[in-house]
Amino acid sequence: MGYERYARVEIDLDCVAHNVRVLKGLVPRRTAFMAVVKADAYGHGAVPVARTALGAGADRLGVATIEEAAELRDAGITGTIQLLSEPPVSAVPAILDLDLVSTVTTREFAVELGKRAAALDREARYHLKIDTGMNRIGVRAEDAAEFARGLKDFPGLRLEGVFTHFATAETPGDWDFESQLQRFEAARAQIRTEGIDPGMVGAANSAATILHPESHYDMVRCGIAIYGLHPWRSTYDKVDLRPAMSVKAQVSFVKRIGMGEGVSYGLTWRASAPSTIATLPLGYADGVHRLASNRMSVLCGGVRCDQVGRVCMDQIMFEVPRGVQVRPGDEVVLIGSMGDARITMDELAEAAETINYETACAFGMRLPRRYV
Ligand SMILES: *Cc1c(COP(=O)(O)O)cnc(C)c1O
Repeated sequence: MGYERYARVEIDLDCVAHNVRVLKGLVPRRTAFMAVVKADAYGHGAVPVARTALGAGADRLGVATIEEAAELRDAGITGTIQLLSEPPVSAVPAILDLDLVSTVTTREFAVELGKRAAALDREARYHLKIDTGMNRIGVRAEDAAEFARGLKDFPGLRLEGVFTHFATAETPGDWDFESQLQRFEAARAQIRTEGIDPGMVGAANSAATILHPESHYDMVRCGIAIYGLHPWRSTYDKVDLRPAMSVKAQVSFVKRIGMGEGVSYGLTWRASAPSTIATLPLGYADGVHRLASNRMSVLCGGVRCDQVGRVCMDQIMFEVPRGVQVRPGDEVVLIGSMGDARITMDELAEAAETINYETACAFGMRLPRRYV
């Protein structure tokens, strides 16, 4: 882009590298590490994050869609890329073209993948997704062994691994987590009984990687934690993560308003005394959730300021505290630090009644990104 917008996301790739190394340090040396870079690396930029993660020791990349995989291949990334869910059957040629490891959840898809691969005299690696209780995707745990047997000698296919996904890994001492783990163990054992090697066994997301060593197996899949964000507060004191994303803007406009005057659509905030209002050039189309209106803060002049009035599509306003001088062009922090003051992604997520995963993704929508 030829011009600079006065709002931006900053990504510190050294933090990503640090987080990958710290997380790898939690798992046995023989356990493979997948860096999950779906959704444009949770808003952090897939290509730079993928390169950094691989450079810091990640063994493979996880993506959600063919397009995400194609972006990484187009950028020249040659490492192993795994699709975390099964795409439509029509994507099979692209999977072979891009040399992806696919996830399999239906026989129809696996058969098509095998046929196409065999026709090219190739073998397609796949991971069988086992549903142990999340009830999102996957072959049900009790059917997994039979499913694997049905594909055992199918030409063009190679079972590289089996995996499951937890619904409650971030909740310590959770009974449903234990129950998922038990169902997974049982499915694994049955697959072995069929005389099939399940290959790389995997279960852990970031939360399980940090909280549940018994779920590490042969591969862990970390997303949120490589960005330096905690899956939940249960992991705050368990691992030293460094948040990679900051969000900053420059004041675009400053004015004085009188007592009783309102600000923004619906005039949902009114000044209880004469007040200074500053405007920032970013809004909900940039990832500032509208639900956070009148509930979030920003840092300006080294102090915390209340955001006021509804968040608009492209702009937000905040009240300048008495005694603080603010001028157009002054730097404002929405996520990150200024002096001793700090606003975390978790704080904003709470104000927007959501989770840091969603706020991070949202900041990836439109803001220009700068790597520092
Ligand atoms: C997104 C995803 C992950 C990563 O989860 P985090 O909580 O971000 O670590 C792991 N596995 C699967 C199957 C996923 O879809």
